[in-house]
Amino acid sequence: MGPSPAVFHNGRFFTNQGTDGRAHAFAECIVTDASGIITHVGSLSDPEVAQAQAAGAVRHDMQGNVVLPGFIEGHMHLLRLGQSLQNVALDDCKSLEDIRNAIKQYARDNPNVPRICCKGWMYSMTGGEASTSLIDDLDPRPIYIDEKSLHSAWCNTAAVDELDLQGMPDPEGKPTGVLAESAVMLIVWPHLAKVASMDEKLSALRGAIASYTSEGYTGAVYMAFDENMLEAVRVLRQQERLPIRLVAHWLITPRKTEAENVAQVDRAIELWREFKDETDFRIAGIKIICDGVIDACTAALTEPYSSNGVNCGPLWTVTDIVPVVRKVDQAGLQCALHAIGDLAVRTAIDALEQGMSPAPGDSNKRHRIEHLELASPEDAARLGRLGITASIQPVHADPAILKAWPRLLGDDRCGRAFAYKDFADGSAVLALGCDAPTAPHAALRNIYTAATRRSARDPDLRDTVNPGLALELAAAVAAATAGSSYSCYLDRWTGKLEVGLSADLAVVDMEWKAEKLLEAKVRQTWFQGVNVYEAAS
Ligand SMILES: [Zn+2]
Repeated sequence: MGPSPAVFHNGRFFTNQGTDGRAHAFAECIVTDASGIITHVGSLSDPEVAQAQAAGAVRHDMQGNVVLPGFIEGHMHLLRLGQSLQNVALDDCKSLEDIRNAIKQYARDNPNVPRICCKGWMYSMTGGEASTSLIDDLDPRPIYIDEKSLHSAWCNTAAVDELDLQGMPDPEGKPTGVLAESAVMLIVWPHLAKVASMDEKLSALRGAIASYTSEGYTGAVYMAFDENMLEAVRVLRQQERLPIRLVAHWLITPRKTEAENVAQVDRAIELWREFKDETDFRIAGIKIICDGVIDACTAALTEPYSSNGVNCGPLWTVTDIVPVVRKVDQAGLQCALHAIGDLAVRTAIDALEQGMSPAPGDSNKRHRIEHLELASPEDAARLGRLGITASIQPVHADPAILKAWPRLLGDDRCGRAFAYKDFADGSAVLALGCDAPTAPHAALRNIYTAATRRSARDPDLRDTVNPGLALELAAAVAAATAGSSYSCYLDRWTGKLEVGLSADLAVVDMEWKAEKLLEAKVRQTWFQGVNVYEAAS
C-alpha cells in the first residue's frame, strides 16, 4: 500500500542544518504528500497543517516519541550479517560441554543443512582452548564457530578441508582449526557466501534487512561488495521492493601490477552506470583495505607495537593507491579506504590528496576513510580540509572490547584512539556505522558509545575511552542520519526531516540524554511515508 497525504503529530521531530547537529531543533509536526515526500516541517498552528487536513490528510499520532530521520548505516556487510543472524547462538553456553550439546541438538534438528554455523563462542567458555579435535566427533558436516568478536573462527576438520587455505599467512591454523583475523574475513566469510545457495542468500539478505528495519534504519552502505553479493541483490530486487536504500562499494584487491589494480575499477564503473538512476540500490564506488586491525597487530602504525616492538606496514602503498584513486575520481565515483592504524590513515589521506582532481578539497568528491581508529592530530585535521568523510564505528570504541589496547599501544597512543571530536572540529563530515556483523548494529547503542564513550555491551562497566573526544548527542544523531546520508549521496532523498526529502523516519521512545540511550527503544520505522515496522507493545 502506498502512502497517503499525512500529518505526523504529537512527536518531537529532530531537525538540523548541515550534517553536524550543531544547529538542531525539534519541530511539532511534519506534513507529507501522496508520494511520501515531506512538504512541511513546523508547528501544528501553521497554515500548511490546516490546509493538509482540510484536503483529507491522515493523522499519524507519534505518541510523544522523538522522531528522527531513518538511520543510515554508514558501513556494513549485509549478506554476512544475514548469515550470522541465522547461526546457532552459543552466547548462553558456559562450557565446552554446553557448546557440544548445543551443536549436537542443532545437528539432530537440522539433518538437511549442508554445514553447521554457530556464533557467540568466547575463549573463556572453553578455558582458552579450541581445536578441531574438540568438535570432530559431533557431526561429519563442516562446523564453523564464530568467536563473539568475529576475530576468530573455530572449525572442525571437515570445515578446514573445504576451505582454500592456500597462501594463508598462518599455516598453524590448519591443524588447530582456529582461523584468526584476516583469515576470517578473507577466507571463511567469502567461502560461506560462495557455497550458500541462492535461496539461502536471499533469506539471509531478507533477514538482515528486516533486522535493520526493526532498528530504525532506512538506508545502509554495503562495503566490500562483489559479484556473488551482486547476483543475490539483483534477484532480491526482482522479487520485491526493498524497505531500505542500499549503496555499495566494490572491493578492489591488491594485484601484482598497477594495470591489474586499476583494471578492477572498470567493473565498478560499469556497475555504477547500470544502477546510477536507481533509488533503492546503487554502486557508490570502490573499497580498498589499507591495513588490518589493532588487536591482531596488523593495523599499520607509525611506531612499533608496544607489546612486541614489531611494526606492520600498510597493505597498499601511496604509490599503489593513487592510480586507483585517480581513475575512480575521474569517473565520478567514490573511494572508501579502510584505514585503522595511524600509518594507514596517513597513507590513505596522502593517496586521496594526490589522486583527487582537479582540486583536493573539492567537497563534492565525497571520498571517505573507514574506521580511523588511531589518527594523529595533524591527520585528523586534514580530513575536513580535503573534504574526506570520516566513516566511523563507535561500536568498535566500546571499552569492553579494548582491554588489550594499553598493552598493544601504550597509554600515550591510547589517548589518541577514536578521535571523533578532532575530526568534527576539523569540519570533516562524520558518517556513523556499525560494521555489522563485526559489532551489534543497533543505532541507538552505537550513538550511546559515540556520545558517552562507555560500553553498550557491558553497561555496568564504568570505563570510558577518551571521553574528551566524544561527540555531543545531537552531533552523533546527525552523523548517523544526515552525515551517513551525505557520505553516499543519499542526501538527495533522505537523511533529514526537511521539505523535499522522503518521509523516512525512526520513531524512538527515548529521553534526550546520551546516558539514557540504552533504555531507548525504536517504536516504528517509516520508509517513503509507509509504516514498515511496528514494535510489539
Ligand atoms: Zn567492514
